[in-house]
Amino acid sequence: MSYMEKLDELEREWTIGYGLDGGGYAFEKAESIGGIEPLLMWDDPDWGYILGETPEGLDRGDTSVLYVAPGPASSRDDWPELLEDDDGDSLWELACNGWLAETDRECDWCGPGTDATDEEKASCKHCDGDGYVVSPGGGWAAYKAVYRLTWHSSLHGFSLELDVADVYACNAQGDVSEAVKSAVSRERFRLDGLNPADIIAELRETGAWDDFEDEDENLERLIFIAAGELMADINVRLES
Ligand SMILES: [Zn+2]
Repeated sequence: MSYMEKLDELEREWTIGYGLDGGGYAFEKAESIGGIEPLLMWDDPDWGYILGETPEGLDRGDTSVLYVAPGPASSRDDWPELLEDDDGDSLWELACNGWLAETDRECDWCGPGTDATDEEKASCKHCDGDGYVVSPGGGWAAYKAVYRLTWHSSLHGFSLELDVADVYACNAQGDVSEAVKSAVSRERFRLDGLNPADIIAELRETGAWDDFEDEDENLERLIFIAAGELMADINVRLES
């Protein structure tokens, strides 16, 4: 059986196994991450179906995604700490992970607790007439979307937040001056709360400039430095 055919079957097993089909949800095949495959995902999951509650490390309001690695409990606890988002406006950070043991449960549609007729039982698509379904086992990982990152100055203990999208834009190939200007305007009211002398001291530390007359230019330099360091951190975490 090919990888994709196997995934089709896994999608069905997991979707039915955790009763998602009753709620109009489904597990979907996912691209391998960190070499983990086969892999299924449930975007913006209702955690109650799988874990009974929102897992630790996630707040109710977080944008989250659930990955499951179907299969025996071996070699599947090496989830990557950070995933890149295709849109480039967020990152996905590992919030928590764990294991699901394979269990049996009564079929929601025709099992002992229902008033299904023998005929309905025999033709039940959810359990193939068994009256029971298997909730499959495997590893799971909860990832949450990160839209803002915090940079800490090396010298004076101030910090600033940037949009992930701005961090990427300020580190693009070629001329990024417009991206930097745009990030400065977006963060303006926070940047205006910083002490200009602290900013200059921070810039001076890099040794890249010796003229600090223009305050707007200083802010652009600061954002450029912060975005560069945040990008370097991202790359380290992506490789870990
Ligand atoms: Zn059934």
